[in-house]
Amino acid sequence: MRPVDTRARRAVRDEVFRRDGYRCQRCGRGREELAQLGLQLEAHHVNNLPADHRPENLVTLCSDGACHPRGDHLGNTPKSSGLIFTYKLGDISD
Ligand SMILES: [Zn+2]
Ligand SMILES: [Zn+2]
Repeated sequence: MRPVDTRARRAVRDEVFRRDGYRCQRCGRGREELAQLGLQLEAHHVNNLPADHRPENLVTLCSDGACHPRGDHLGNTPKSSGLIFTYKLGDISD
């Protein structure tokens, strides 16, 4: 089962990726170069609040651990929100 807000999250993701030119904002690699390395674009929550889907709270990073460290926001996720997802965008298939 997909989360109810999958479509909304995907729309925000696409908006953020487009805004950032489909490039990791840390290493500067584009989508095709990343794909050749087995990496992908991901959206990172700047304030570490995964429930905050405002585009200004999201930045395009790649799945390289040097750019987007694993679990960088899990530890900061408010448990009360019940929202434990890393916004790993590869999980949302098109
Ligand atoms: Zn990167
Ligand atoms: Zn992140």
